[in-house]
Amino acid sequence: GRAIVLDGVSKTYDVKGGGAPVTALTSVDLTLRAGEFFSLVGPSGCGKSTLLNVVAGLLDASTGQTRIGDRTVSGPDRATGIVFQKATLLTWLTIEENVLLPSKIAKRLDDETRARADHLFELAGLADFRKRYPSELSGGMQQRASIVRALVGDPDVLLMDEPFSALDEFTREGLNDELMRLWTDSPKTVVFITHNIAEAVYLSDRVGVMTSRPGTLKEIVDVPLARP
Ligand code: ADP
Ligand code: ADP
Repeated sequence: GRAIVLDGVSKTYDVKGGGAPVTALTSVDLTLRAGEFFSLVGPSGCGKSTLLNVVAGLLDASTGQTRIGDRTVSGPDRATGIVFQKATLLTWLTIEENVLLPSKIAKRLDDETRARADHLFELAGLADFRKRYPSELSGGMQQRASIVRALVGDPDVLLMDEPFSALDEFTREGLNDELMRLWTDSPKTVVFITHNIAEAVYLSDRVGVMTSRPGTLKEIVDVPLARP
């Protein structure tokens, strides 16, 4: 993992049709240690996704700077793995083809990547399902496959935007353990967005709380952890 530093990051969305601009982030300063598991909680609309998308390089901040290690974020980067709320697997490819596609596109589909995919499929309990198509898997398995896809390129950081919120509670609890196993196996710096405070506390080293006045970081709570 690598440290993530947000330095005075603000984001204002211009609204089409002459509406008032929407402030989503107000001068956020945040430093995450390399290898830290950090969760972000707060009410809907408080700016969590905006913050994540800025760190991912998918969205330009209006002001301020974001660094991952010694790189200044200025666009999407291979070294950042992302998982969204809904599995974004391509329906016409098998699970394995989905997982290997980003490496293939980047022309980095080497033996090491294939070996890492094998290992991650085992860890995620998907080894027997790699030749299946997404529609043949449960929602929880599809999300596990999305996490494997995000990890297979061995990224420096892993960003997750409510990855389990579309799933039922039991599937979700299993996935938290699954995720811990993957993370312990190869600690990445993680930013994990959730509405579920129990989940945040269970998974994280620290939890950041955002407020809806608008897009400010209210508090960061250290979570004294007894990790499995
Ligand atoms: P969340 O589940 O994080 O609350 P939302 O439902 O607020 O997500 O947003 C879903 C998508 O819609 C995101 O890609 C977000 O950028 C976009 N979005 C949210 N609010 C607006 C808005 N007022 N105008 C345009 N797009 C928006
Ligand atoms: P959260 O993830 O905490 O639900 P978001 O980051 O999605 O919050 O949204 C923060 C604020 O920015 C909200 O008021 C939302 O409506 C607004 N917003 C998000 N995306 C857009 C967009 N593309 N255009 C305009 N407003 C947006």
